[in-house]
Amino acid sequence: MTENREPTFRESVDLMFNRAVSIMDLPPGLEEKIRVCNATYTVRFGVRLRGRIQTFTGYRSVHSEHMEPVKGGIRYALAVNQDEVEALAALMTYKCALVEAPFGGSKGGLCLDPSQYEEHELEQITRRFAYELAKRDLIDPSQNVPAPDMGTGEREMAWIADQYRRMNTSDINASGCVTGKPIHAGGIHGRVEATGRGVQYALQEFFRHPEDIEKAGLEGTLEGKRVIVQGLGNVGYHAAKFLSQEDGARIVAVVERDGALIDDMGLDVEAVRNWISAHHGVSGYADAKYVADGAKVLEMECDILIPAALEGVINVSNADAVQARLIIEAANGPITAGADEILRRKGVVIIPDLYANAGGVTVSYFEWVKNLSHIRFGRMQRRQEEARHQLLVNELERLDRYLGDSWSMTPHFKEKYLRGAGELELVRSGLDDTMRIAYQSMREVWHARDDVTDLRTAAYLVAIDRVALSYREKGL
Ligand code: GLU
Repeated sequence: MTENREPTFRESVDLMFNRAVSIMDLPPGLEEKIRVCNATYTVRFGVRLRGRIQTFTGYRSVHSEHMEPVKGGIRYALAVNQDEVEALAALMTYKCALVEAPFGGSKGGLCLDPSQYEEHELEQITRRFAYELAKRDLIDPSQNVPAPDMGTGEREMAWIADQYRRMNTSDINASGCVTGKPIHAGGIHGRVEATGRGVQYALQEFFRHPEDIEKAGLEGTLEGKRVIVQGLGNVGYHAAKFLSQEDGARIVAVVERDGALIDDMGLDVEAVRNWISAHHGVSGYADAKYVADGAKVLEMECDILIPAALEGVINVSNADAVQARLIIEAANGPITAGADEILRRKGVVIIPDLYANAGGVTVSYFEWVKNLSHIRFGRMQRRQEEARHQLLVNELERLDRYLGDSWSMTPHFKEKYLRGAGELELVRSGLDDTMRIAYQSMREVWHARDDVTDLRTAAYLVAIDRVALSYREKGL
């Protein structure tokens, strides 16, 4: 790779994969079997809109079927192309393996700019795309389960689920054909913010390990850390909101398409988000310094950089200038393979995408399980848990009366302790546990092996090892 020839996104993912397998001991040929994309389906379909037929191009790529169904989002963007969809599908395989979500990897995309269409037009387009995919088992609760990604959300998932149901009227598991649905259409609490929440849990776990904090040249906790967020979409917004409101981190800059906002004291994430929704950009926001050259802000001094938008934003042209000590890849592929090398040499710690943004698919996994089990999490045990807690509270209250003024229960203990976990609490607990365990599996490899000097290689090692194991179990 030369300075002026960046690899494509897919080449970048393959280069990272190759780095890991070069220090693994896989049976001959298995490495290639895992690396390649099994199949990519391209569909071109016409929809009658505004008095003429418009043709759209869409993709669904299946990277690995070592476990089924395969899983991964559907993206709506003009830049969607086969290379990108295949890179994203490969990342899904490794992501699912790393967080032990029992899926193979897949991804889909439709080339269109959603902002150019009315809601009813988008519905028509989505239903037609879903029809094309469902008829080839590329949407199916046991074969291939899409989810939201850039440019899509709950609304599109509800249309897809409904379209599948119309085509499969007797499938009792129909609602498990797609995840990220609204609650009323079989969704799960906590899915919308899951990826951002996962980024927060990943950072919390990182800051539980003093050795790791030291490797990044940082100290202390998340409290007061200066954070730059690139992209205040669903993932960036939730990550920034939770980190600032719950962990005391300072969001010192937000970089968007039309420039960046800077405030050393910490931006009001909610206010910035509202401004962006109303004005389609950050310019004009009065309570912070505005800089038109957003890319330059990525190079500003800070503790943590969170690229949460597009792939390739940190590349060979700017990697050297990046000053962050810790980068957490909330987006997929925001750092190119060339930039990764430069940053590693500089000693920057990178929490890699296949781990950092796995919160989305983790909660998708919970949603799919909920759909297949046809029951909301917590429905059976919540009141029983509360009744048992009530027994203990009754005893404590008896003690309280007996001991008089010398002892009393901590304020709010009773109501907090009495409340049994509902679906949202269980989803958060499951996500937190997943993010902690996956981090620990990566860091164990990172610290134990001299030939593994970064978390990305460690993450790939863990993931590829698990994929290889399931191929071996299949007799391959
Ligand atoms: N699109 C998300 C991702 O890239 C979520 C995938 C899913 O939930 O299946 O991880």
